[in-house]
Amino acid sequence: MRDEIHRSEKLNVLGELAATIAHEIRNPLTVSKGFIQLIKSRSTNDTDLNYSTLALEEIDRAESIISEYLMYAKPQADKYEKVNVKEHLYTVLKIIEPYTTSQGHIINHNFEDALCIIADAKKFTQVMINLVKNAVEAMEQDGQLTINVYASNNNVVIEVIDTGVGMSEDQLSRLGVPFYSTKDKGTGLGLMVCYRIIEALDGKIQVKSTKGIGTKFSVIIPKALENE
Ligand code: ADP
Ligand code: MG
Repeated sequence: MRDEIHRSEKLNVLGELAATIAHEIRNPLTVSKGFIQLIKSRSTNDTDLNYSTLALEEIDRAESIISEYLMYAKPQADKYEKVNVKEHLYTVLKIIEPYTTSQGHIINHNFEDALCIIADAKKFTQVMINLVKNAVEAMEQDGQLTINVYASNNNVVIEVIDTGVGMSEDQLSRLGVPFYSTKDKGTGLGLMVCYRIIEALDGKIQVKSTKGIGTKFSVIIPKALENE
């Protein structure tokens, strides 16, 4: 027992330390980014332009890794509140709409009314954005993105369905493993963050996928009680 407490304390300290380091790395990155942007705007030849563009892309990637990692490890207290899933998802749809429609995707949604969960609203948004972003990135032009919300027993189920590339059994088994990504510019942290946030809500994420056909992510979270 005592060992276990020590272990979890150690992990906490490590998590906090890593989060602090990640935070501290952000500042020099932001400064470097500013200077490279300056070099880029002044570059008079293709080589300089290419190199500075590449450097900026890499800095963006480092920034995404840090942001996603901080989401995971930040030792900040969660702010739990009653979240109306339907209303919340409309906000998420607004955020992602420009991103999806610019690629010709059609969004279908079917949201049951009055379903609430107890969650940190910001983190819940993060989960939904990560899942929708993955769905969109999995699709070529003119795909179909479907988001459904319904009640099942004492749970709220949120489905994010795409008509994208799909995954093999082997790929499915790696989901949520840190840095597992099949994308050139991926961080491989998005799903790890999703799993962690949803598990903290006593929920779970199920995935069904067929290669070449598409994927369905189902997020299952306990329904908030009337008086919660
Ligand atoms: P990233 O998006 O940065 O690659 P994620 O953790 O969000 O990292 O996803 C990890 C990997 O899981 C992706 O690179 C992709 O191979 C696979 N994946 C996730 N969602 C989908 C999806 N909807 N369709 C197909 N593959 C997916
Ligand atoms: Mg992702």
